[in-house]
Amino acid sequence: MRTSIATVSLSGSLTGKLDAAARAGFDGVEIFENDLLACPLTPEDIRARCADLGLRIDLYQPMRDIEAVPEAEFARNLRRARHKFELMRRLGADTVLVCSSVSPQAVDDDALAAEQLSRLADLAAESGVRVAYEALAWGRHVSTYDHAWRIVETAGHPALGTCLDSFHILSRGSDPQGIADIPGEKIFFLQLADAPLLAMDVLQWSRHYRCFPGQGGFDVAGLVRQVLATGYDGPLSLEVFNDVFRQADAGPTAVDARRSLLVLQETVGRAPLPDPVVPTGVAFAELVTPDAEPLAALLGALGFTRTARHRGKPVALWEQGDARVLVNTGTAPRRDGTRLAAIGLESPDPAAAARRAEALLAPVLPRRRAPQDAPLDAVAAPDGTELFFCATGRPELPDWRADFENTGVPPAQAGIRGIDHLALTQPWHHFDEAALFHRGVLGLHAQESVDVADPYGLMRSRAVTSPDGSVRIALTVGAAPTDDTVHAQHIALATDDVVAAARRFREAGGSLLPVPANYFDDLAARFEFADGELETYRDFGILYDRDDHGVFRHCYTRTVGRVFFELVQRDGGYRGYGAANAPVRLAAQHTARALTGG
Ligand code: MG
Ligand code: MG
Repeated sequence: MRTSIATVSLSGSLTGKLDAAARAGFDGVEIFENDLLACPLTPEDIRARCADLGLRIDLYQPMRDIEAVPEAEFARNLRRARHKFELMRRLGADTVLVCSSVSPQAVDDDALAAEQLSRLADLAAESGVRVAYEALAWGRHVSTYDHAWRIVETAGHPALGTCLDSFHILSRGSDPQGIADIPGEKIFFLQLADAPLLAMDVLQWSRHYRCFPGQGGFDVAGLVRQVLATGYDGPLSLEVFNDVFRQADAGPTAVDARRSLLVLQETVGRAPLPDPVVPTGVAFAELVTPDAEPLAALLGALGFTRTARHRGKPVALWEQGDARVLVNTGTAPRRDGTRLAAIGLESPDPAAAARRAEALLAPVLPRRRAPQDAPLDAVAAPDGTELFFCATGRPELPDWRADFENTGVPPAQAGIRGIDHLALTQPWHHFDEAALFHRGVLGLHAQESVDVADPYGLMRSRAVTSPDGSVRIALTVGAAPTDDTVHAQHIALATDDVVAAARRFREAGGSLLPVPANYFDDLAARFEFADGELETYRDFGILYDRDDHGVFRHCYTRTVGRVFFELVQRDGGYRGYGAANAPVRLAAQHTARALTGG
């Protein structure tokens, strides 16, 4: 199927938007009138630019407040339309979007609307233009797609059809089943947008919160299935008004947009993508740091041992149980501090996982980072984190550990089993993209987004997980792009006995994040504990949560650079991440930073 994107969905100048759309692989664009008005190029130049880029101009939009008005007003509207049709001829655009009227002059008279739209279509046909009539969810008299279709059907004009827009249909809770009543050839255009489920004024919802399909809460795929069943063969076109996308770079947004359409097409059975290869575990987490010492002390206190070193680079492998942490001192400029730079994902078929990622427009990284390295399939996530698809200890496939030489020290067994989850902080404009990336590219399941109160702003967090929980990644974004706390990342280590692990850590010289006594007083009010249990938690700063499935106990180390560790004990199938405790943890981290001046 052909794919298209409205220029209003992207940031920047019209020419920049066209370049970004073409580079992301779109077949066409909807030219938004304001973009054209602000562009120094002539319509002929824009047409030539699109042709050079291989982009078709699928739609010119919008034309507003046309129909069901007094005759004198309609005459003025036709005059306006004549100018626009001439402009479209110069542009080489053959379909115009007419939105249902919001004018106070418009009357509630379907017959008049049909008659005037028919006269508009007469004029359009003379210029070789088709009119696609769309019901705005906040239209004055026409606000549902079935109503718009009844008017188009009444008009019965070959140059008049309808435009369906998933936002307008689904935001009003209309049933898309009725789309089956519209002949496919009368659906002149299909615009797609998703949105988070919010209870708010529909106009504000539409103008500020639309997002790409798969990033919100609407069943966009269900609607697309209905439309395709009519025989509609026009493009799938994205029309997204979003405050974040308006500010973010057009290039990555266009890639995000097209990835959303690829995933959508796959969902409705129209995109032959390589099947997802769901990761089965975390092979390693790689920390990049300008100074290995603080991390070595922290890992040592946590019970890790340095089992191997890279043959060609300053990278050390620290192990305990199935938890593996790489400490890389080779690539971090000092100002960047310590950060989580790469994740190794255990993959049943690393090459197939990389093929899927590439088909979904993920940047593929060189298979060998250096000539002597073992070949490894890797891609970059939207936040720049490198994702390696690994086969650890499987003789038939290259093992990333082949590049390492043992130190002779065996992996420790000091109570840590493996990596429970990784928390990656996303740049503020990549949050929705990141969730879609991890879902579409890696085949992980995205959980509901939750808001977490930080003392200095609101954070949003969304976890993506494999079905069995062997891979859990918490994606987090803060309100303040420059706040260090929102840029903190962490590695959560799984233990069967968090108290013992915390005690061992402390005895080895580690210091845990102190948690205020008020938190434990509140815990005592909310839950019942055995004698002495709560005092132990208070002593170590162990936080506690419970859901329908089980119990979660967790505590935190101090932060090194942008990274800290969490010790977690998950019992009875607890599924969350202690989100209820996150505000306390964030406040405690702010306090600790203020005390240490770090
Ligand atoms: Mg629309
Ligand atoms: Mg955590």
